[in-house]
Amino acid sequence: MAVVEVEDVMFAYSDRPVVEDVSLEVEQGDFLGLVGPNGSGKTTLLELMIGLRRPDSGSVRLFGQPAHASETGKRVGFVPQDVAETEGEMPVTVREVVRMGRYPRRLFGRFTDEDRAAVDAALRRVEIEDLAERRVGRLSGGQRQRVFIARALAAEADLLALDEPTVGVDAESREAFYDLLGELNDEGMTIVLIEHDIGVVTSRASEIACLNRELYFHGDPETFVETDALSAAYGDGQSIVHHEH
Ligand code: ADP
Repeated sequence: MAVVEVEDVMFAYSDRPVVEDVSLEVEQGDFLGLVGPNGSGKTTLLELMIGLRRPDSGSVRLFGQPAHASETGKRVGFVPQDVAETEGEMPVTVREVVRMGRYPRRLFGRFTDEDRAAVDAALRRVEIEDLAERRVGRLSGGQRQRVFIARALAAEADLLALDEPTVGVDAESREAFYDLLGELNDEGMTIVLIEHDIGVVTSRASEIACLNRELYFHGDPETFVETDALSAAYGDGQSIVHHEH
């Protein structure tokens, strides 16, 4: 089943198109790595895919419905850009953030035992139950990302969308974070990940989409590294982050 279907999508800020002629599908269980140079439209495309923006032309379907319909949004866990860095002032506790994942399901403003159990299970799953009462702003970047993953798990999201989640995170926490994403994907979670490190993404993702306003490549990582889609999309290739792991 297609989780996301992007068809002939164009999107412009004012009159400047930043996503053009893009069509691609994300199947259930895929781990899609979205790569491309800075400013190539990755964040915009991700936001289009999960219904945070509407295309100027073309269509985006999420779980078979128009992506901007609010019902489909509940099934998406979104980890926005720089979460590890920019939400440092958040005064709320870890448990409170994870509980927010239950808000769309809450009846008459009350948390049920089921809600509490889902929050506890999500905290355990990402191994941060010992941090539950800590303020999010006091956590390391790596811990904070896990909070947002836990929020998505508490929400019973079927799709995780992550925008450069490891910016500002140390190498060890980063590896552990990608291990966690790999496990969640093995358990059936569909993942779309924007990642500037080509080495990380080609070793972790099951599919690669390479964007520079238009789609330069969509397929498996092995084919991606064999083709010249990367240098075509990146122009002179100077800005490529590509290391072996
Ligand atoms: P990427 O994620 O690949 O860096 P973005 O989707 O963030 O690319 O941005 C694509 C282009 O659109 C960039 O040139 C960026 O400056 C521009 N852009 C992004 N967001 C906005 C916005 N809200 N208003 C106007 N231009 C924007």
